[in-house]
Amino acid sequence: MKLSKKKRILIINRGEIASRIAKAVRELEHIAVGVWTDNEINAPHLQFCHEWLKLEGSNNAETYLNISQILNLVKKEKIDAVHPGYGFLAENAEFAEELEKIGTIFIGPNPTAIRMMGDKAISKKKALESKVPVVPGSVGAVDDLEEAFRVSEEVGYPILLKAVAGGGGKGMRACFNKEDVEKNFDVVQRESLAAFGNKDLLVEKLILNPRHIEIQVLGDKKGNLYHFFERECSIQRRHQKIVEEAPSPFIGEDEKLREKICETAIRLAKEVNYDSAGTVEFIMGEDKSFYFLEMNTRIQVEHPVTEEITGIDLIVCMIQSALEEDLGIPNQEWIRRSGHAIECRICAEDPVTMLPAPGKLTGFDTCFPQGTRFDNCLYPGLVVTPDFDPMVGKLIVEGINRDVAMRKMRAALEGLLIEGLKTNVPLLKVILRNEAFSKGNYSTNFIEKEKPQNQIDKDINIQDIFKKLAIIEARKIGL
Ligand code: ADP
Ligand code: ADP
Ligand code: MG
Repeated sequence: MKLSKKKRILIINRGEIASRIAKAVRELEHIAVGVWTDNEINAPHLQFCHEWLKLEGSNNAETYLNISQILNLVKKEKIDAVHPGYGFLAENAEFAEELEKIGTIFIGPNPTAIRMMGDKAISKKKALESKVPVVPGSVGAVDDLEEAFRVSEEVGYPILLKAVAGGGGKGMRACFNKEDVEKNFDVVQRESLAAFGNKDLLVEKLILNPRHIEIQVLGDKKGNLYHFFERECSIQRRHQKIVEEAPSPFIGEDEKLREKICETAIRLAKEVNYDSAGTVEFIMGEDKSFYFLEMNTRIQVEHPVTEEITGIDLIVCMIQSALEEDLGIPNQEWIRRSGHAIECRICAEDPVTMLPAPGKLTGFDTCFPQGTRFDNCLYPGLVVTPDFDPMVGKLIVEGINRDVAMRKMRAALEGLLIEGLKTNVPLLKVILRNEAFSKGNYSTNFIEKEKPQNQIDKDINIQDIFKKLAIIEARKIGL
């Protein structure tokens, strides 16, 4: 196999994804260039990088979102390619274009695809043009309250007011009647303007007890486009995923349905000449009819479950695609899946209120079952601030079937000890023992319906295994 010339690849992100990308860059024998800020001088991703550059500034706007500072670094340090990770500049078409202008590769899709899919109103129009079913609602943004009333009446309540530029579960409000629309219209507009710099809203029918099912796609720059089956991410809080799995227990053995939804995702991705890793998200009703939600034109948090069942390294492929190299995938049929994978997002948050709980990690220890993957950014001294997403790690397991994967995940959660920070681990433990979840019988309303936060066992602070570790440690130092 011929290796390409070493490229200097800048990873313009932090947290677990920065480490994950650095590992892929190393595997491909390129040079991993990481970034650090004054607030995070000991970040563990730097240990996986060959070189480190400093981002000046004290907040995200001055550092990770500061396009001009980043472009200057790219030029000065002769960077060949930039991986944006997720969040920050990952879906910023202007950034991708600016890089292109100075001859640097953006490791992601072409800017036109980002632009078309980044706006929920434009992407819905594209979906309609490609005969992809969309959630009933406004075609494009609604101009004012009167139009919002009219569309809501047309599709029937309940509806969802949704920011066209939204992301990360933000900028959404359910409305059950006209009064709700009246009350929430300005609120969502204001929130969207503050969070995303765009106040445009969509009206969508609120699908009841839905499942969130998404298709991983990957394209190269030569016109090849593949799907890697589905992930189910219906366990959510505040419209944001906390547990993800593949395959979807709702699709189960229904290969016809699986084929149909995967084929639909490919059709839409082709429509925008998609040429990198991306995800087409759908919402599936109780009757198994599915509707396009949005496309995320980047690598997603939950990509590891797909990697585990297909054996394909999506980040490696994403880099190869950007460098116009062969992906080593002969055709769609060659991509197979086996077994079942589950991911739990480990977040620094109160397990009962599920609200972020900033703080300082004093230590952590692990005792995982064989084969557990823990993509994380933990180190003693890590300070979780409100500036960053509270997600500090992802536990990923794979088993020959769903029952085995669940068993492994329960053991993995028992085998994770985090000190100093409040985390959602106690909540995840309850979810993994929940009967409805065990049967695969759940929807995005799972938390609301099952209230796992009320079943957290308050007596168990330190698990047996760690008590034993503490005793061994104590003996070592003669206590
Ligand atoms: P995924 O879609 O990959 O499952 P999330 O929705 O949790 O995961 O988003 C991943 C990260 O990107 C989070 O840190 C989230 O806050 C951030 N994010 C997603 N979309 C946007 C957006 N439009 N603007 C700003 N941040 C975003
Ligand atoms: P984001 O960009 O924040 O990820 P999405 O459109 O992907 O926004 O929606 C996030 C989540 O919100 C979905 O996974 C689902 O749980 C819920 N949701 C979005 N649209 C609808 C809808 N029309 N009906 C019911 N739930 C929805
Ligand atoms: Mg989404």
